[in-house]
Amino acid sequence: MGVYNRAPLAFERGEGARLFTTDGEAYLDCMAGIAVNALGHAHPRLVQALKDQAEKLWHVSNIFKIPGQEALAKRLCTETFADVVFFTNSGAEAVECAIKTARKYHWARGDVERIDIIGFDGSFHGRTVAAVNASGNASYLEGFGPPLPGFVQVPFGDPDALKAAIGPTTAAIIIEPVQGEGGARAMSVAEMTAIRQLCDDNGILLIFDEIQCGLGRTGRLFAHDWADGQANPDIMCVAKALGGGFPVGACLATIEAGSAMSVGSHGSTYGGNPLAMAVGGAALDELAKPELLAHVREVAGYFTQQLSGLRDRYPDVVVDVRGKGLLIGVKLATPNREFMQHAREEHLLIAGGGDNCVRLLPPLNLTLDEAREAVERFERACDRARAKARAAA
Ligand SMILES: *Cc1c(COP(=O)(O)O)cnc(C)c1O
Repeated sequence: MGVYNRAPLAFERGEGARLFTTDGEAYLDCMAGIAVNALGHAHPRLVQALKDQAEKLWHVSNIFKIPGQEALAKRLCTETFADVVFFTNSGAEAVECAIKTARKYHWARGDVERIDIIGFDGSFHGRTVAAVNASGNASYLEGFGPPLPGFVQVPFGDPDALKAAIGPTTAAIIIEPVQGEGGARAMSVAEMTAIRQLCDDNGILLIFDEIQCGLGRTGRLFAHDWADGQANPDIMCVAKALGGGFPVGACLATIEAGSAMSVGSHGSTYGGNPLAMAVGGAALDELAKPELLAHVREVAGYFTQQLSGLRDRYPDVVVDVRGKGLLIGVKLATPNREFMQHAREEHLLIAGGGDNCVRLLPPLNLTLDEAREAVERFERACDRARAKARAAA
């Protein structure tokens, strides 16, 4: 189906932050499959984990115990607020599980009217029917029938609107601590803790969608960790970096929030399969390393400083630099789709984003030398954008 606007590039091989086309041209990858290849391409440890597991066992049904699943779940719970985990194959499925978990929690307590999920303008939670309803993005909903009941949207960063939206039918709030597709808009620690408090005061559940911003991307293992435990969610969705490129996602919950999800409430054929668990376990080990998280903070600091310099030197191209850690948004004065092409001409791969942003989402182990090279290529893309704007004027 023609659902993708594909760039005219095909890659054959990857190594670290480099991608090589079928005709051997090298590109510096600062989008990493939209925050998926967080350890770069062909990371030796992930390759080995996949190969080893591939020779043993690919799939068994979830009607059996799966030791790799138990191990990864335990590991995720040790690293987070969570007590229980459901494994999925994608981010959107993790969001589906989160929505079901939140509603069932209230239902089991007799609060059957509490079904509303409050989401935010500019959010992205995936492309399933429930996920597009949770984000409320009109262009993703158009043509797919009436919006589903039980979903409410409020503006991002407007506490009064959020308070006004909460009522006796509210089940949960779903929010990305750093909006990804929306253009790298980060919540402050104060905003996160205020939302946590609001949920506590009103008996509603807090769902963090950390599918893009989690697993080291912001320089802490999870973006809400910047609140040092003061803004832990009840339910959290992860995916993307968890498999480093192998499809895997997870919905994490506290024992209380997950309590109504009993035998038969939910399921998945492939979710938590041994291949995904082997790669996920290896990826999590690497992503949780304090040295890696410190490295993310260092490289992110470098990018922020350098890109802010470009904003000063190219005010006709770069309007704003934002985001958190290595989820970097650069808001442009020239069309972002064209800028992505200028960057490709400089052999730099970057992602698009809402609000006319481009996003830099490099592998978290990008070296400082590679970061320097990325900035140089980005600057040359700014030159191209400037020249194009001037020629058109
Ligand atoms: C990518 C993404 C999703 C959807 O993940 P899929 O694996 O594409 O289903 C959901 N939420 C956020 C924040 C994302 O970035």
